[in-house]
Amino acid sequence: MLRIAPQDEARGLGKIMFDKILIANRGEIALRVLRACKELGIPTVAVHSTADADAMHVRLADESVCIGPPPARESYLNIPSLLAACEITCADAVHPGYGFLSENARFAEILAEHNITFIGPKPEHIRLMGDKIEAKRTAKRLGIPVVPGSDGAVSSNAEASAIAAEIGFPLLVKASAGGGGRGMKIARSAAELPTALATARSEAKAAFGDDSVYLEKYLERPRHIEIQVLGDGRGNAVHLGERDCSLQRRHQKLFEESPSPALNTAARDKVGETVAQAMRELNYQSAGTVEFLYENGAFYFIEMNTRIQVEHPVTEMITDIDLVLEQIRVAAGAELAMTQADVKFHGHAIECRLNAENPVSFRPSPGKILHWHPPGGPGVRVDSGAYQGYVIPPYYDSLVGKLIVHGKTRTECLMRLKRALDELIVDGIETTLPLFRALVREPAIIDGDYHIHWLEEFLAKGSVEG
Ligand code: ADP
Repeated sequence: MLRIAPQDEARGLGKIMFDKILIANRGEIALRVLRACKELGIPTVAVHSTADADAMHVRLADESVCIGPPPARESYLNIPSLLAACEITCADAVHPGYGFLSENARFAEILAEHNITFIGPKPEHIRLMGDKIEAKRTAKRLGIPVVPGSDGAVSSNAEASAIAAEIGFPLLVKASAGGGGRGMKIARSAAELPTALATARSEAKAAFGDDSVYLEKYLERPRHIEIQVLGDGRGNAVHLGERDCSLQRRHQKLFEESPSPALNTAARDKVGETVAQAMRELNYQSAGTVEFLYENGAFYFIEMNTRIQVEHPVTEMITDIDLVLEQIRVAAGAELAMTQADVKFHGHAIECRLNAENPVSFRPSPGKILHWHPPGGPGVRVDSGAYQGYVIPPYYDSLVGKLIVHGKTRTECLMRLKRALDELIVDGIETTLPLFRALVREPAIIDGDYHIHWLEEFLAKGSVEG
C-alpha cells in the first residue's frame, strides 16, 4: 500500500512512504521511533533479545521478532538476524536509533544491498565522521573552527613532543576511533606526555581495535555546546540551534538544555549558519549533531555524530520539529519540510537522564521497578519504556527514561522541572533522581554558570545524598 506522510499530503506533496519500518534498537529510543511511525501511519516491527521480551517497545509495536540471546553482539548488533527479521516481516526500512548499529556504515550498505532503506545518513558520511581525525580535517576544510592540535595521527613520541612544543600544555591525547570518552588522556607537562600517549593507545586498541591517536589542546573550563542539523541529501540543510550538554560525569552527559545560557542570538546564528552551510556542501542527509567546546567566546569543533542523539527532545521542545519524523521523511526521498527561515525558537527546555544507577557511586542498579509514577502537567514530557513491574535487565545501558521540561523562560522551565522531579516516583531500583533534585536547587545551575568539569567537582564535594 502506498502511504503519504500527513504533512506532505497537507502540503500537496504526494511522497510515497515506507510500507513497514523495523526498529533496530530497544528501550526509550525504540519507543520514540515507534511513536513517530505511528503518527505517520507506518506499521512497525520491534526486535528484541530474549532479555527484552516484556519490554514496552515490543508490546506497542505491530509485530515483534526475537533476534537472539541477551548479549548485544548476539542480538542488537547481529546483522544477519536483523536482515532475517526484515525479510520475514517484509520491512522495507530500518531505523537504528542511537548506539548499537546506528553509526555502522557497513550495516547501512548491507541494508541497501538488500533493497532496505537505512533511516540515517549516507554510508560515506557515517564513515567520514566516525574517523575523528578525518572529521576534524573535513570540518576545517568546510570553515568550521577546530581545537588546535596535531594535523593527523601522531606516530611517535618525538613527533608528539614537537607538536606539544608548538601548541603548549596541557594537551589531550585522543583516540582517532574514539567514543564514550575512551582512549582520552591529559598530559600537563612534557614529562607526562609519553605515559599519556602509551595509555591512550592501549585503551584505544582495547576498545576499538585501532591504536591511532592525535593531540589536541586541552581546554580547561569550556562548555560543551552542540548544534543540531537536519539535511535531506539534496543540498538542503538547516540548523535547529544548540544544546548545552556541559553537565557531564566521565564524559557522559546527564543534563542538557537549550538554549545555552552562554549564547546570545548573534552567536547562535553565526555558528549555526556556519554548520548548516557545511552540511549543504557535504550534501548531508538526516539528523546529525556537530559538537563543539566553547570557551571565552570561541567555538572549537570536536566531533560530529551522524545519528539521532539521546538529548534530541530538548531541540524538539523549543522548535516544534519532530526530528525522528523528519529523518523518516528524508530517508523516503522527501525534501526537508522547512527552510532556515521557518525554524523558530521558543522558550526553554531541559532534559534529565534518569539512569538506574546509585546517585553517589553511579554503580548500575538493574532490577524490578516496584512503583513507577511519571510526572505530568503543562510542559512535561517523559520518554521512557518503564512501567510498574518492569525488570531492567543488566545487559544494556542504564538509561531508564528521560524527563524533558519546557517553559516560556529558563526560570519557568527550572521551576517546572523542580516540581516534575518532585512528582516522579520510582521505587525498587536506585536512580539518578536525587542528583537532579539537588541540581535544580544549586545556585550555579540556577544561574546557568557551569562548565564541563562543574558536575564532577560538585559530586566530589559530596553534594548528593543517596
Ligand atoms: P567521545 O567521542 O569519546 O565522546 P569527544 O571528542 O566527543 O569524545 O569528547 C567528549 C568530552 O571530552 C567532551 O564533551 C569534553 O568534555 C571532553 N573533551 C574533548 N576534547 C577536549 C579538549 N580538547 N579539551 C578539554 N576537554 C575535552
